[in-house]
Amino acid sequence: MNIVMFGPPAAGKGTQAKRLTAERGLIQLSTGDMLRAARTSGSELGKKVAGIMDRGDLVSDEIVIALIEEQLDAQKDAPGFIFDGFPRTVEQAKALDATLKRRGLEVDGVIRLCVDDNVLLGRIEKRFKEEGRKDDNPESFKIRLENYHKQTAPLLPFYAAQGKLTEVDGLAEIDTVATAISRVLDMQKTGIETNAKPWWKKIFGG
Ligand code: AMP
Repeated sequence: MNIVMFGPPAAGKGTQAKRLTAERGLIQLSTGDMLRAARTSGSELGKKVAGIMDRGDLVSDEIVIALIEEQLDAQKDAPGFIFDGFPRTVEQAKALDATLKRRGLEVDGVIRLCVDDNVLLGRIEKRFKEEGRKDDNPESFKIRLENYHKQTAPLLPFYAAQGKLTEVDGLAEIDTVATAISRVLDMQKTGIETNAKPWWKKIFGG
């Protein structure tokens, strides 16, 4: 089962992806984490992307697609993947479809965490104070949010047209969001087994 965890920065994608890893053994592929690891290691890639990330801009499609492909090759026996923070552009989504197809796989579902920009700004202020991530500073975060609306949100109709999109209330408690996501994934399993009609729908609350 391959799932895209979708939403703006700080919507809780990483937190929910980690829960699914713990509960279902799915492998979390976070391009943000991969890029931060490249920076920490001091690699050429890390140096190349540092300024772009700190500003709050997106790194090139080519770079993140290569990172994802590397991980798909390295973890061929994985029971499934949760894509966290990827894809972020239509180009990336098309590349993901193509690279999965070459491996006999596909995106099975996209879970959108619905959140309010103003709530995010409050959350991020707190995270900036606690963790000090440079790109969480108010100016960079504003750019990250703008980039989400301009470049990433256009993916919603792309996935909705494929019948793969489900929306979950990302402002609920972490456990409630996790329960809602679990219900979505369980319904998907049932849908596949019984060949039921498309099961994707809006699921709010627990
Ligand atoms: P994240 O932790 O997912 O919010 O990512 C942190 C930063 O890494 C982003 O603001 C971008 O600069 C970069 N990044 C992560 N994933 C992607 C992606 N799929 N496409 C382009 N840039 C990305």
